[in-house]
Amino acid sequence: MAANIVVVGGGAGGLELVCKLGRRLGPAAVTLVDSRLSHIWKPSLHEVAAGTLDLHQEGLSYQMLAHDNGFTFVYGALTALDTAARRLTVSAVRDEAGEEVLPERSLPYGTLVIAVGSTSNYFGVPGAAEHTISLNAPEDAEHFRLRMLTLLARAELRKEHYPQARVDIVIIGGGATGVELAAELREASGVHAAYGFRRLDPNRDVTITLLEGAPRILSPLPERVSKAAAALLVERHVKVVTGCKVIRIGAHLVEDGNGVGYPADLCVWAAGIKAPAFLGTLGLPVNKAGQIEVNDRLQVIGGHAGVHALGDCAACPGPDGRLVPPRAQAAHQQADYLCRRLLREAAGRPPGDDPYVYTDYGSLVSMGSQTSVGSLMGALRASWFIEGLFARLMYVSLHLMHHRAVLGALRTGVLALARYLIKRSTPLVKLH
Ligand SMILES: Cc1cc2nc3c(=O)[nH]c(=O)nc-3n(C[C@H](O)[C@H](O)[C@H](O)COP(=O)(O)OP(=O)(O)OC[C@H]3O[C@@H](n4cnc5c(N)ncnc54)[C@H](O)[C@@H]3O)c2cc1C
Repeated sequence: MAANIVVVGGGAGGLELVCKLGRRLGPAAVTLVDSRLSHIWKPSLHEVAAGTLDLHQEGLSYQMLAHDNGFTFVYGALTALDTAARRLTVSAVRDEAGEEVLPERSLPYGTLVIAVGSTSNYFGVPGAAEHTISLNAPEDAEHFRLRMLTLLARAELRKEHYPQARVDIVIIGGGATGVELAAELREASGVHAAYGFRRLDPNRDVTITLLEGAPRILSPLPERVSKAAAALLVERHVKVVTGCKVIRIGAHLVEDGNGVGYPADLCVWAAGIKAPAFLGTLGLPVNKAGQIEVNDRLQVIGGHAGVHALGDCAACPGPDGRLVPPRAQAAHQQADYLCRRLLREAAGRPPGDDPYVYTDYGSLVSMGSQTSVGSLMGALRASWFIEGLFARLMYVSLHLMHHRAVLGALRTGVLALARYLIKRSTPLVKLH
């Protein structure tokens, strides 16, 4: 029987998987289901939020990728699953006026891979869901960008009669997302001032405060990386507050457990993630964070034959029993691993008995367009601290590697060059 592989979620992991499978097996055997029409590499969402990356230039159409890589694209969200009948339900799609443009559909599968990523975990903090923006999806990042432009315009206008007018931005969570956003926003606010918000002094009138509950930012990374990142942020007039537990968020104020209040016109939640809640309704085993429980072959446990999960939405144990971290490099490695297994199966060979083992190659954190900090894992798992332009080039190369996996080497090169030229010839931030 011909393979019928359905991958749900065309993100960092799922898209690489369908592209690689599609190029080998073709569109009759490989299908991607996604609730959006285009793909953007999630680690670049802080750049979309700051306006330094244009969502519409960066987004890659799934339909175009399907044509070029030999898979079938189905537009809609996974909503239900019948593992006994090996069928999944894809939601109806409605236009902006609420009119149904695509009906609900039922798709058969031989092999299913769920790769739907993650969403925010607010840990029950009152007001977090109502008064913060997260960077989980392109719409969130675009919403943040437009709101920031409006607030800048308002502060610029008020400045005429009220010299203290300013924009207060609070970022909750000093992990990679929060740190990268703070650095990118500081860089972007300088460009905003240069492009017309002339009454605003970016360092004084756009305040950026980063709140972290742990004793240091980037706490999972080596201490030297945390120190270097904190020093760069402070140098750029970002206020970094550690050991700060946020207990309540209002429309204009963030309060911590020590009774300190932080004024906030714009507040970003970057303090934690969990798997999307609907996964708990599919009849598959999920852990406390809502992730689908898989074994070290990425197969869903509990006898759901043919069903796999990867990336942020999967709880995959490592050899020491600890879960593989929710990171783009893990999603990429898991896509590679599963691709090898599924290709062997499609060729009628046994998939092999090797488990998936996560390899940590280190972590790089972007500190704006010119520099990055991080650590690379060397021989004997020793960690090497890197900083500056070299770290920046390594950081950019991760994004290019993802593009290479889905577009091929030549088009990635042409696209990278075109984007470089566009960036040099237009304002460095998107102003509309
Ligand atoms: C701002 C930011 C910076 C980051 N920086 C880094 C970094 O530097 N390094 C790093 O390793 N990681 C980083 N990460 C984390 C990284 O982005 C994720 O770990 C990675 O994207 C997870 O890949 P994934 O394939 O599991 O899911 P995703 O890439 O999130 O893709 C999920 C896909 O599923 C689709 N989908 C969701 N629900 C449904 C549904 N019901 N039906 C159909 N489709 C659905 C979505 O549209 C999306 O296309 C960052 C994250 C953010 C937000």
